[in-house]
Amino acid sequence: MITVNGETFMFKCENPNCYNDFKGHQVVHKGGINDYGWWIVKCEKCGFIFQIYVGRDVNDSSLVSGGEILRKFDKEIDTEKDVLLAVKEINKITKNK
Ligand SMILES: [Zn+2]
Repeated sequence: MITVNGETFMFKCENPNCYNDFKGHQVVHKGGINDYGWWIVKCEKCGFIFQIYVGRDVNDSSLVSGGEILRKFDKEIDTEKDVLLAVKEINKITKNK
């Protein structure tokens, strides 16, 4: 039987000059299939873009406060290298605006 377990987790903005707290809601499918992976998030205070390893389940978990999710990456499909590259690309686009 599949049950869904929710848990709140916190993480900080990776900009060393910013102390914004992010709050996420992690969804774990007990006995079910969980997709491990990363999010690329944007800080609502300083606009800093960085990746965060969410673990399971990357698709059903959500960001409650602190910023927004720009992209989600499934570990089955993407590697950490892909995620870092995507962060770089997004930063480039943002800076050229
Ligand atoms: Zn920040």
